[in-house]
Amino acid sequence: MRTGTDDAAETQVQVCVRARPLLPNEASHYERQCIRVADGNSIVVGNDRAFGFDRVFAGDVGGEAIFSAVGHPTIEAFLDGFNATILAYGQTGAGKTFTMNDLMKRCVHHLHKVLSHDCKMTLSVLEVYNEQVIDLLDPSRPRLQVREGNDGDVFAAGQMVAEVTAAADLLSYIEAATSSRSTASTNTNATSSRSHCIATVMLTTKSDTGRVTSRLNFVDLAGSERIKKAHTTANTGGTERVREGIHINGGLLALGNVIHALCDGKSHVPFRSSKLTRMLQSSLAGNSRTVMIACVSSSDQSMDETLNTLKYADRARRIRLKVSRNAHVLDEGDQTKIIMMLRNEVKNLQA
Ligand code: ADP
Ligand code: MG
Repeated sequence: MRTGTDDAAETQVQVCVRARPLLPNEASHYERQCIRVADGNSIVVGNDRAFGFDRVFAGDVGGEAIFSAVGHPTIEAFLDGFNATILAYGQTGAGKTFTMNDLMKRCVHHLHKVLSHDCKMTLSVLEVYNEQVIDLLDPSRPRLQVREGNDGDVFAAGQMVAEVTAAADLLSYIEAATSSRSTASTNTNATSSRSHCIATVMLTTKSDTGRVTSRLNFVDLAGSERIKKAHTTANTGGTERVREGIHINGGLLALGNVIHALCDGKSHVPFRSSKLTRMLQSSLAGNSRTVMIACVSSSDQSMDETLNTLKYADRARRIRLKVSRNAHVLDEGDQTKIIMMLRNEVKNLQA
């Protein structure tokens, strides 16, 4: 038995920008800062390219500020029965993994602080790499197939779903999983990653009105830089590297097309054109509070990619979402309890 959900509220994808400072090796290579932050909502690239966002974090602004603005409200909504997604977008080396790992840690600490024992949590961690879905909780499993459930939710069939009883255990699972992500070096960044990583926490809480299950996705996208930056060498591995680059760009290109179609209100949205967009379907067009963190470098050497990232992020701001709290589901025992309660109430009213 399902009790009614709250009325769906119209909202938009929230978009924040994090501009990381010049790294010590960049500063010593005479790279210059090419971005300015006028206030907490706008960023200027070069002399005159200004963009407005929901929030802009720059320089040495730490993880605590990002947690307060993005993580805390997301976790509170998640605990309250809403689905939520936080995704990091940007070129390799811009700070996506740095930002997401820190944010996940803070979110898990917060969950740990506020969660009562009367709840059930599960975790799954997937990687989309070269249009293949890899189970990061058990990478030895064969590649997973993407399926759609009766409720329209898209999932990877046969994925490992780890039951987690303490929020603190979430972190060790996530850390173990993300350390097995596919990485290879390119000339852009020695530890660049061309894979998308999706960590999903499902939480079921119980209250007097039943059980409610909500979903939280942390998405660390692949580097958004163009293929021309991938290093092509004649030696073995060179061709493989380029093929990877094309595929990754394919996923982000598909994501860009999906964003375009959603913003233009097109009746057909090409979610099915890539594994990434299929997996993100419910975060972009379903019932989810979604936040994008666009990560950029502040170096003048990355100005073109920074502009690309900000344009992409600016488009994502226009995606509208209909968000509502997930329905409460009643157990048999709860149903009986509520019927008794209502009968008593009727009796009282009659008296
Ligand atoms: P990406 O995942 O986007 O490829 P990383 O998160 O791996 O980028 O960051 C690249 C490098 O920059 C790492 O060495 C990381 O420690 C550093 N870095 C990223 N963001 C920041 C930041 N806000 N402050 C300081 N160093 C950062
Ligand atoms: Mg990374």
